[in-house]
Amino acid sequence: MTGLKDTFFRVIDYLRVSVTDRCNLRCLYCMPPEGVVPSEHKEILSYEEIVRIIEIGAGLGVRKVRLTGGEPLTRKNISFLISSIKKIRGIEDLSLTTNGILLEKYAAEMASAGLDRVNVSIDSFDPVRYEKITRGGSLEAVLRGISEAEKAGLRPIKINMVPIRGVNDDEVIEFASLTFNSDHHVRFIEFMPSGNNDYWSSDKYITTDELKKTIETIAPLTPVHMRKEGPSRYFRLKGARGVIGFISALTHHFCKECNRLRLTSDGKLRPCLFSETEIDLKAAIRSGEPDSEIERLLRLSIEIKPEGHNISNIAALKGPEALGTGRRRPMSKIGG
Ligand code: SAM
Ligand code: SF4
Repeated sequence: MTGLKDTFFRVIDYLRVSVTDRCNLRCLYCMPPEGVVPSEHKEILSYEEIVRIIEIGAGLGVRKVRLTGGEPLTRKNISFLISSIKKIRGIEDLSLTTNGILLEKYAAEMASAGLDRVNVSIDSFDPVRYEKITRGGSLEAVLRGISEAEKAGLRPIKINMVPIRGVNDDEVIEFASLTFNSDHHVRFIEFMPSGNNDYWSSDKYITTDELKKTIETIAPLTPVHMRKEGPSRYFRLKGARGVIGFISALTHHFCKECNRLRLTSDGKLRPCLFSETEIDLKAAIRSGEPDSEIERLLRLSIEIKPEGHNISNIAALKGPEALGTGRRRPMSKIGG
C-alpha cells in the first residue's frame, strides 16, 4: 500500500512522533524561561505503544517516521525505540530532530540502531548568542554532535534555523553559505506563533520571500526537486554542494503538499499542526481496543485532515491576536 489519500487527494505517508515533551533547553521562541510543566511519565506513550501505532500506520501506508519532541535524546534508551521502528515492515525512512546537545553521546549508537538521518536545530553560530537564544545551551557541544553524526553516517545533516528579526537575522547568509563547502541541507523555518509564550510578534517574523532576497545577494538560487520534500521547498546556490530549504508555514500555504500526521507524546493524533483537533489513541490503546479500532482511528484522522490552516494572514496581525491561533498546545508538546 502506498499511503492513504485524504479528502483532498494528499497521500499521507509520514508520521511525526513526539517521544517526550521534556527538553534540556528553553529556546526563546519555543518555551517560557521556566519551561513547560512536563507530563507525568505514565501519561507519555510507552515505546511498545508507539511501536504498535507505527506498525498499524505502516499497514495503512506510512513509510516515513520522524522522532521529535521536546528533545528526543532526553528520553531514556531512544536507540531501543529506533531499532524497534526500523524492524517494522514498510518503514523506509527513519529520522530524528534534535537540538544536538546530546548528539555527540548518541550519534553512533543511533546510527547502529538504524537511524537514517538527523535534523539539528541551530539558530546561531555565535556561542554567546546561541547560549542566549537557547537559555543556556552550548554551541560547542552541538558542533561536536554534528561531527559525530557525520562520522556515524547520518548524512546529509539537515540544519534547522528559525530566523528572527533583530535576534539572528544577520546570520542568514552565514547559514546559507554553509552549503558551499558541505553537503548539509540548511533549512529556514518561518517563525510561527507557538502556544506557550508571548515571544512571537509580527515585527520579529521574517517571510521566506525576504529571506530569499537576502540570500540571493550572494548567488542565484535555483529550485531543486527533492523526492518527497513535503512542505519544504529546496534551492541550491550556484556552485554549492548542499541545498537550502524553506519551510514557509505562514506565508506560502504548505498545506497542499502536507503528507503528515503528528502523534503527540501523550498519545493524541493531530491531523494538522495548527488545528486543535486531536484523536485520543492512548485512551483507545489503554482501554484494550484491538488493532482494528486503532486502524479506524488512524483512518479517521486522515479523513478529517483539514485542507489548510487559517493563519496565513498572521503576518498582518500583532502579537496577542496572532497568538490566539496556536497558543493552546506548545510546540514542545506537539512535536515541532
Ligand atoms: N528539541 C528538538 C529541536 O529543537 O530540534 C526537536 C523539537 S523542536 C519543537 C522541532 C523544531 O521546531 C526545531 O527545529 C525548532 O527550531 C522548531 N520550532 C520550535 N518552535 C518554533 C516556532 N515558534 N517557530 C518555528 N519553528 C519552531
Ligand atoms: Fe527544546 Fe527544541 Fe523547543 Fe528548543 S526548540 S526549547 S530545543 S523543544
